[in-house]
Amino acid sequence: MDSSLHLYYGGTFDPVHNGHLAIACSARDELRCTVRLMPAADPPHRAPPGADAGQRVHMLELAVAGEPGLVVDPRELQREGRSYSIDTLRQLRAELGPEAPVALLIGADSYLGLPTWHQWRDLFGLAHFVVAPRPGSAVGGQAGEAGPAPELAAVSAGRWSASAAELERLPAGRLFLLDPPLRPESASEVRGRIAAGRPWKSLVPPAVAAYIVSHGLYAGLAPGRSPL
Ligand code: ATP
Repeated sequence: MDSSLHLYYGGTFDPVHNGHLAIACSARDELRCTVRLMPAADPPHRAPPGADAGQRVHMLELAVAGEPGLVVDPRELQREGRSYSIDTLRQLRAELGPEAPVALLIGADSYLGLPTWHQWRDLFGLAHFVVAPRPGSAVGGQAGEAGPAPELAAVSAGRWSASAAELERLPAGRLFLLDPPLRPESASEVRGRIAAGRPWKSLVPPAVAAYIVSHGLYAGLAPGRSPL
């Protein structure tokens, strides 16, 4: 953990699964920095579809316990309303100053979806993006899969960094592709399997599985349907 990079990993984590943890660990190891897992707030004005924010944080705490270099940062739960990354990054900039290197860790599906994020072009002025490959989401549009939309490809051009060290030299604006083994897990798969009564416990850490069972989470959801 000797890098000066401030790395944040946002998500719903409903629930946190082994794919999230594997990616956080490989980012920690490749970038040599602490990874701060940041659960998003519950959507305003309606009941949370799966676990509520307090339960999601609890599961994250269980998942990172004993895992060096992974910590939970609940800052988005302390703000009113929807969790927009642009607001979180502005808050972090105010805390860390204009020169500190800051990065967001995201999966390849999130990277491809960036143009749907609130004020997405401005995000590059505030942080780097560290992208984890994900099955079915081709960052470069390889293997016959759809790649980034033209506006994302245009904004990304010239930003890809070949070395992790480059992320430390600039405060924001670079893209870095991690190279971990692909992880098939998804939170919707975990929820779907629980609701359908199919095996699911191998997809999450044992302490998280025990918490889900003891709180009866996700069992009442309609099988085969993503509640989000
Ligand atoms: P859902 O299935 O409900 O969409 P999810 O598994 O994608 O959930 P999120 O909490 O939405 O979980 O994900 C947080 C971040 O982690 C996102 O940027 C997502 O792309 C990334 N991520 C989640 N699972 C994986 C995985 N298996 N491989 C790579 N990235 C992942």
